Amino acid sequence: MKTLAITSPTGFEHITPEGHPERVARLEAVTRALDSLEGLERREVRQPAGRDALLRVHHAAHIDTVFAASPDEGHVSLDADTWMSPGSLNAALHACGGVIEGVDAVLDGEAEAAFVACRPPGHHAEPDRAMGFCLFNQIAVGALHALDERGLSKVAIIDIDVHHGNGTQAAAEREPRLIFGSIHQGWIYPGTGAEHETGRHGNIINRMMPAGAAGDVWHPALSEIIARVESEKPDLLLVSAGFDAHKDDPLAGLNLEDADFGKAAAALAALAKSSAHSRLVCVLEGGYDCPALERSVATFIGALQAA
Ligand SMILES: [Zn+2]
Repeated sequence: MKTLAITSPTGFEHITPEGHPERVARLEAVTRALDSLEGLERREVRQPAGRDALLRVHHAAHIDTVFAASPDEGHVSLDADTWMSPGSLNAALHACGGVIEGVDAVLDGEAEAAFVACRPPGHHAEPDRAMGFCLFNQIAVGALHALDERGLSKVAIIDIDVHHGNGTQAAAEREPRLIFGSIHQGWIYPGTGAEHETGRHGNIINRMMPAGAAGDVWHPALSEIIARVESEKPDLLLVSAGFDAHKDDPLAGLNLEDADFGKAAAALAALAKSSAHSRLVCVLEGGYDCPALERSVATFIGALQAA
């Protein structure tokens, strides 16, 4: 697939306290991965998301809280894990803008696949609160842009981060045009994502992995989510691309290898080609062992390019 990587230098200005796992070094690792790939088109985010785009997902009070909390110096915390430095708000707004531009690029035929490599991550941010390193939920903002601004009828989001995408699920709970499927390790942070959580519209699919699960268990479960999404024939496929299910990751206990991320990317690309008009937008979420993150991102995007 013709693949476009979307980045923003603002991501380097989101500074978390010393020792925090969601750190600038992650983006440096991802940048090295992008630099290693031949034939990858690159672009910087052109503009931050505006308030209208955020309001499609977030309550006004949450947006106001994040803007008001933005510090002039040092750090402030929004919860035990979620910190802001003076550059964080701008970085988060550019991360949302990046997903919107990725969606527009694939809908306008500039690329078949986009990989939005921004930080902070977004999938834990709920409509009314920041949470789990995430200020705004950029993948949900991108999905609602596709539905409300670009006129699509149905958008699917598949979340392969090792943690459940509770914020994205909360967006899907109230939006039947959204299909949300997540594969994650069970009962770690944030504690949601049980398989009986299917949503009042029946548009949510959760698959929980036991601690220690490796590719032999993980891929068949991902295939179940893919088969379900395939039957829904979405107009666009979005992927929350977290790389913390890697065996070297310090925040979780699954055992995926580098190559498993390539295999996942190939399966997701095949789904986009067969059932979503070859429109795929992948959004960086977690991944906290920098060497593993660098290798896994390179393998993942390489597989998209080869698909
Ligand atoms: Zn994660």
